[in-house]
Amino acid sequence: MNLLRVIHGRVIDPSQGIDRVDDVWIEGDKLLGVGPRPNLIASKTIDATGLIVCPGLIDMHVHLREPGFEEDETIATGTLSAVRGGITTVACMPNTEPALDNQAAAEFVYLLAERAGLANVFPIGAVTKKREGKELAEIGGLVDGGAVAFTDHDAPIASADIMRRALEYCLMFDKPVLCHAEDQDLTRNAVMHEGSESMRLGLRGMPASAEEIVLYRDLELAKITGGRLHVLHVSTAGSVELIRRAKQAGVRVTAEATPYHLLHTDRALRGFDANFKLNPPLRTQADVDALILGIKDGTIDALVSDHTPIATEKKVRELDQSPFGIVGLETLLPLCIKALVEPGHLAWPELIRKLTWNPARILSLEGFGTLQAGTNADVTLIDPNKPWTIDVEAFASKSRNCPYQGMTVKGRASGVLLGGVVHE
Ligand SMILES: [Zn+2]
Ligand SMILES: [Zn+2]
Repeated sequence: MNLLRVIHGRVIDPSQGIDRVDDVWIEGDKLLGVGPRPNLIASKTIDATGLIVCPGLIDMHVHLREPGFEEDETIATGTLSAVRGGITTVACMPNTEPALDNQAAAEFVYLLAERAGLANVFPIGAVTKKREGKELAEIGGLVDGGAVAFTDHDAPIASADIMRRALEYCLMFDKPVLCHAEDQDLTRNAVMHEGSESMRLGLRGMPASAEEIVLYRDLELAKITGGRLHVLHVSTAGSVELIRRAKQAGVRVTAEATPYHLLHTDRALRGFDANFKLNPPLRTQADVDALILGIKDGTIDALVSDHTPIATEKKVRELDQSPFGIVGLETLLPLCIKALVEPGHLAWPELIRKLTWNPARILSLEGFGTLQAGTNADVTLIDPNKPWTIDVEAFASKSRNCPYQGMTVKGRASGVLLGGVVHE
């Protein structure tokens, strides 16, 4: 029997309310459970003294760029980047070329992920054909191909009627529709948040209302359809309040945030660093404070990297020409620690929950995000106090668009088990 025993670690599994120093047992590619097993003899032991042992981390908002943008990232390099960051499972966005809008496209993602043999990859399907917002994609076929959720992502659905039908249709498969809340009439050619900073810098801004108007519409549509809505990268105080109220009213809504929107405000753009050009943009301190409150009170369920690799030759253009986004799989964990654990906003189990069990439930990933017996032996080992300096050049990702070069952070994944196999 191939028995692996991880000893002396602080085992945190929010799915079972576990937070104690204990053993984790693994047999082959499955978890055997947490706790002493006096009758078993391990064929291999990992000493996790001083480490946190938790379910493999899940990043439910990742752009792997393949097919179509292999110069930015491939499924192989993206999943290696994930594993380096302690992330064992990712869900990838459909804004590839061609768009992930049919069964074969979803199956292609599984095939390449299996070939890479690293992190688990779950594809997210497009809501409409070619993400054009006109005609629903083959939702049923995509579900058959293994798509776990649906969105047109940065081509947000302009038609309320299409969005309504998407919610109704996805409900038949119990899949969430992911809302990138942006009224693109209000954000055209904009590069940052609209406010005193954009005025000062003379840059075109995106008003908070561009996000909140669409979010309000989609929450209302979720209400009348009974469909499941998941709000991507919430960035404004008004959005947090809309989601909080919708949850209280029983609307089936969940939400996520990125650490960037917790660590920075629109002042970060003062240095004209294109790596801080995000969509949705970095907002104001009042928005940051509201997001943190929403994370603490459970309005925001999950934390994500929104990993958006962009090849250097595309990113170094002028601020107004540069595409949006940060490469983020290898910095998600330390940035979340910095934004939430170090200042005392979240305890470790609460952070781990938003990186494991909550995203697993939002995407209905059976057997993921938990250390329950019988599930996949995906485990992340975290050294919670290890200081280290971010070196963008050392990333496994193909891309380098990251504003954190040289920053010292605390906490790092020291290794993962993927289906019981150790990756350090
Ligand atoms: Zn987005
Ligand atoms: Zn994204």
